[in-house]
Amino acid sequence: MADMSGAASSLQGQRSDGSLALAGILSSDLSKRRVRQRRQMLAVQGASYSLGALVLLVYSYAGTVPTIIPASYFLGGLSLTGFFVVLSETHVNDRFQDHYLTIFQMGCNVALQLGFLLAAPEIGYTFLSVLFLIFGFGALRMTSRQAIAVWTLTTLGLALIFLLTDIPIAMPVSTPLERAAAMLAFVLTIGQCAFVGLYGSSMRKMLYNRSFELKAANKRIEELAELDELTGSFNRRCIMRILDDEIVRAHRSSTPCSVALIDLDWFKRINDAYGHPTGDEVLRTFAITVFANLRAADKFGRYGGEEFLLVLPDTSGEAAARILGRLRAIIADLDWSAFSPGMQVTISAGVATLRPGETPDLILARADSALYAAKARGRNRIASA
Ligand code: GH3
Ligand code: MG
Ligand code: MG
Repeated sequence: MADMSGAASSLQGQRSDGSLALAGILSSDLSKRRVRQRRQMLAVQGASYSLGALVLLVYSYAGTVPTIIPASYFLGGLSLTGFFVVLSETHVNDRFQDHYLTIFQMGCNVALQLGFLLAAPEIGYTFLSVLFLIFGFGALRMTSRQAIAVWTLTTLGLALIFLLTDIPIAMPVSTPLERAAAMLAFVLTIGQCAFVGLYGSSMRKMLYNRSFELKAANKRIEELAELDELTGSFNRRCIMRILDDEIVRAHRSSTPCSVALIDLDWFKRINDAYGHPTGDEVLRTFAITVFANLRAADKFGRYGGEEFLLVLPDTSGEAAARILGRLRAIIADLDWSAFSPGMQVTISAGVATLRPGETPDLILARADSALYAAKARGRNRIASA
């Protein structure tokens, strides 16, 4: 039995972000979401510079570097972050395909670290270890081509400093305070590396969930394309395709196949007497009742208005007439007074069984004549072609 619950619910409110972005017009929802994502990332970057400045502060307290180093690292890091915050909030980022400006951001951050490596080589290892973090974060967004580009540039920078200068890059650990600072530097870097990893896995989880949602939405779209909104039965296009397929199958396997056109009797009067919305409810109840009394292989669809097509594979004419007779009785005996006291609903049906070589159009025409005959004989009855 087809799923009828919620068949009428629409997919309104879903939109394709991708196509809009391609058109160069970002929906305000998407744009806001992107700004939010970038804010998160820039907040993490600001926090990371603050933590780094803290380590440098310990070194300046220990007398290893002048106070200007932690101060300028803090200000430099936050200014750089602030610069990207301004770009992000003014939506400059949204003009680029990579709205994180990954390469540009990484380049600026790497340059800042190399600058400090030159300015304070006596604690050079702290700035070198930040390069790992920059690449760790960048790798969450980079394409492999971008990664190669940034890595090559960083290699050039490092080669200039390591091979063309002889400044002594060090990790001083001669006093307890310096040892504590070094330990702090590693502890913080390791913690931030773990954070990058956890962030990456949370993104993967989110994508995994998204793919499930997408699959469910696709299934829903497929169902909606096949089902009639009001009754949840197959729509006309779908039931006609099923009829074509079943007739081909029946001819090929020389098995019987029957069809029935079912029409609600005096339905116009029901609408006139109880209103169109009640008429809709009657159609829905009729369809649910038919569904509940069909075999799994039987296919039921809305042919149009208050007329339905039932395809009964592997069913002889007598069996089909029996099935339709039973359906007729079930509908007629149903207690319709819940809709309105004294309401009566009956159906008439024309049954036709496939003849050798017969086309869908011909069998439908015979079923329609039989339906006409059933109506002419007084309705609430079945007629076989
Ligand atoms: P008969 O016994 O000869 O079939 O009489 P009838 O009144 O059922 O037939 P007729 O073709 O004159 O009227 C069919 C009515 O079905 C007219 C139309 O308004 C109503 N109808 C068609 N589709 C819908 C629908 O989706 N909802 C409602 N409420 N009514 C519908
Ligand atoms: Mg009718
Ligand atoms: Mg009709």
